[in-house]
Amino acid sequence: MQQRTSPEVAMSNATAVNLPADWSPSSWRQRTALQMPTYPDAAALDGALRELHALPPLVTSWEILALKKQIAEAQEGKRFILQGGDCAETFDGCTSEVISNRLKVLLQMSLVLVHGLRLPVVRIGRFAGQYAKPRSADSEERDGVSLPSYRGDIVNGPEFTAEARIPDPRRMIKAHARSAMTMNFVRSLIDGGFADLHHPEYWNLSWVGHSPLADEYRRMVDGIGDAVRFMETLSGNQLHNLNRVDFYTSHEALLLPYEEGQTREVPRNWGWFNLSTHFPWIGMRTAQLDGAHVEYFRGIRNPIGLKIGPSVAPEQLLKVIEALNPDNEPGRLTLIHRMGAAHIAEKLPPLLAAVKREGKRVLWICDPMHGNTESTTNGYKTRRFRNIRSELEQAFDAHAAAGLHLGGVHLELTGEDVTECLGGARELTESDLERAYRSTVDPRLNYEQALEIAMLIVRKRGQ
Ligand code: PEP
Ligand code: MN
Repeated sequence: MQQRTSPEVAMSNATAVNLPADWSPSSWRQRTALQMPTYPDAAALDGALRELHALPPLVTSWEILALKKQIAEAQEGKRFILQGGDCAETFDGCTSEVISNRLKVLLQMSLVLVHGLRLPVVRIGRFAGQYAKPRSADSEERDGVSLPSYRGDIVNGPEFTAEARIPDPRRMIKAHARSAMTMNFVRSLIDGGFADLHHPEYWNLSWVGHSPLADEYRRMVDGIGDAVRFMETLSGNQLHNLNRVDFYTSHEALLLPYEEGQTREVPRNWGWFNLSTHFPWIGMRTAQLDGAHVEYFRGIRNPIGLKIGPSVAPEQLLKVIEALNPDNEPGRLTLIHRMGAAHIAEKLPPLLAAVKREGKRVLWICDPMHGNTESTTNGYKTRRFRNIRSELEQAFDAHAAAGLHLGGVHLELTGEDVTECLGGARELTESDLERAYRSTVDPRLNYEQALEIAMLIVRKRGQ
């Protein structure tokens, strides 16, 4: 999320725009839109949308095109993508501590990856807009009382009261503002030198010293410090490009009225962009070929992600790829597979083979979280570290066997010391979950578990 890419450079990244026929930012309204709230007050919705259309966007088209170019390079195996953050951001979680801790863990993971893989890492945060959640049921039942489901802070409140669960369009304006504040803080931290490789100690979280992984991480940081000092001694200069990093944002573009409100036509015929985020993705539950989400996404110029689960057949996937990337444009489409440790060996290879056979240019990344969610006997939604690890390892193997490469990972994580996923270096058990389970939706890797995943990727890919 830095500003080095000038419009001129971005323009040279822009390929010719073929605006799809019959598309407009609102053409999704002609299709079936799943997972949408029903707003009770049409006039209030109208007012909020008008305001959203007028508010300034959160990112620029040239940043978006710079990311698209980096994703195209990752498709060629020249970069690795690290995408991570909360399952759902909350309005209350828009605090300096939560934001900077999340940034720290992502920076530490990327340092492990850069060092171990010897590849530039593209950092994409699931933040500054990750406020809308798809739900498996429209309503939630507790003690005989049924209320509409919580759909993320951009729609309604998590409290189990009739009032909190009413969809409120003003929440879209609040989500836009919180996203802007988050982005502003991240940009300021990075511009101020927070990500400077000369000072990885800035990223230490207070309790890291007690981690079983701390020694391995420290050794690596010391090794990098030595290498940096050696290079600087040789060249007689400070290596300036080490004090800045790129950081991009992403979210599931689920709530289409919000996304439409931040969709703008960029001059010089660059086309239409979703300027609320660099990298929006389509969730697994809303990826129907004839659905509203695919219709919306086909017309925007952003690089986009598509989640794919075990129920997707190869022919169906090829049709969605054709709809979303008819020109086979490099960098445009990332497929994020989330099969589950028990299914990936069977379900992924036919998809890899079909996409390869048809010569479709995509970036493959693995989400080892969403296919591995389960409930404990004491009622917590959790994920076992060993299943997450197993899916990731199997993903690397499946890509290698197909003659392809896995170009990145997509993770739910936090910089906080939570206990939401089982296992990992500290071997969290079911009874640990009650200590610090804070997620309102899916369980996240805590700082240590996230760092462990980064180390595991290096070991696996370095084989
Ligand atoms: C998510 O990423 O939080 C999510 C809901 O994922 P999926 O669409 O893969 O289920
Ligand atoms: Mn999730």
